[in-house]
Amino acid sequence: MNLSFLPALRTGALLSLLLPLASSSSMTDWAARRPATASARAIPAARPLQGAKPDPAVIAQFGLYNNAKLQQLITARGKAMAAISDRPGDYGFTVVDSPVINAFATPDGHVYFTRGIMAYFNDEAQFSGVLGHELGHITAQHGKKQQRNSTIAGIGMLLGSIVAPRVMQSVGGVVQQGVGLWMLKYSRGDENEADGLGVKYSTKIGYDASHMADFFQTLQRTEEQSGSSIPTFLSSHPNSADRYTRVKQLAAQAKQSAGRSTFAVNRDSYLRSIEGLTFGEDPRQGFVENSVFYHPDLKFRFPIPSGWKSQNSPDKFQMQEPNGKALLVFLGAGGGSLDEAASGLAKAIGVANAQAQKTTINGFPALVFEGDQQAQDQQSSSAHVLAQLIQDGKSIYAFVGLAEPASFSSYAPQFQQAAQGYARLTEASKLNRQPEHIHIRTATGTQTLAAALASAGVPSSRYQELAIVNGMKTTDKLPKGMLYKVVGK
Ligand SMILES: [Zn+2]
Repeated sequence: MNLSFLPALRTGALLSLLLPLASSSSMTDWAARRPATASARAIPAARPLQGAKPDPAVIAQFGLYNNAKLQQLITARGKAMAAISDRPGDYGFTVVDSPVINAFATPDGHVYFTRGIMAYFNDEAQFSGVLGHELGHITAQHGKKQQRNSTIAGIGMLLGSIVAPRVMQSVGGVVQQGVGLWMLKYSRGDENEADGLGVKYSTKIGYDASHMADFFQTLQRTEEQSGSSIPTFLSSHPNSADRYTRVKQLAAQAKQSAGRSTFAVNRDSYLRSIEGLTFGEDPRQGFVENSVFYHPDLKFRFPIPSGWKSQNSPDKFQMQEPNGKALLVFLGAGGGSLDEAASGLAKAIGVANAQAQKTTINGFPALVFEGDQQAQDQQSSSAHVLAQLIQDGKSIYAFVGLAEPASFSSYAPQFQQAAQGYARLTEASKLNRQPEHIHIRTATGTQTLAAALASAGVPSSRYQELAIVNGMKTTDKLPKGMLYKVVGK
């Protein structure tokens, strides 16, 4: 999070905090995810296509990844593909600042790639295949169909980048948790159609679409590495092996009928373009360690209720009781006075007749109010709310705890403990935490990937992870001069 606060609330992000929450799923198929709020927001059928610009709600949740080179790459390839697609339009393409390996399209015609997925592509042909797949969901209007079918419009509040220590980390418990909560699934038929369109469009703009299939293998390896649920993945999606074979076949056919003999792969230029890419969680925007949330840039810390899941995003930090029975959201409540902030917050979250009380929390001036949030629609139930606002210098932060009225009293102590643990961050080891980055190295002689990683100073505990990042096995031989990725500060 970075302090963009109340505007995000007013767009309805918190207004749709509806209980009960959907059950968690660890499905990790980029090809099957898109944000629920984007769907919810797009429901008015008459809304014109506005895909050229990124949706402010998506940016509020993920943040833009400020990298002119990558942004230029995705825009150039996206526009080229849109022009030759089945439904040309004024579409837009954006790289967002999330470590999660994902790409998604919103029905209004905007494609989002995370910096996480950019780190895992190994050439432009893979990148273009996935870009074509996502564009295919737009041109085939899969999202519009899904909006009509969707019954889970209310779960958008769990949108956001995940507080995972590192997406690839196979242990740690919070890896990609909750991802399934914020992404809807396309049908198997839609995914197959989008694969076919990805092949078609990327071939048409000159790429070797068979590399798209290779990226499925990378995805499958990341899923195995992170320990996510393969059965869930397989239950609703084309089997990865089948998908691989099918896309290879489609790519071969597309090449034959393309009327040319050479197709671009552009491995080296792609790898050069991701030199310096942030890899994994960016701790500058806040990170979790031992059930404490630390924010080095904003210089605060507070404890997370024991055993709760959490999610960080640019505009808020959310904690959820494991069974979804209670939610605690930490966010900025603006400047000015505590009274002004409290009344603005109460209005934004729809709490009327709140009882407010000035107090002190852990030495900070504070204001606490409690009340009922009215249900937003038939799908939701009303929630009881405890808001604790803390003034830290010029900033005012709020801990907003929500639970159903019947169970509220059992969660109130946990809401209070989190706020009472709010403190200034003074530990240098936390304040100075920096993200990792992708760096591109050159093989100095014919050597295995493992040897190349060793010579670049990568610890052996990360060889397997880096093999996946490179789309190789650790035993694969790199000829002299071949580029490869390493991860470091
Ligand atoms: Zn898809």
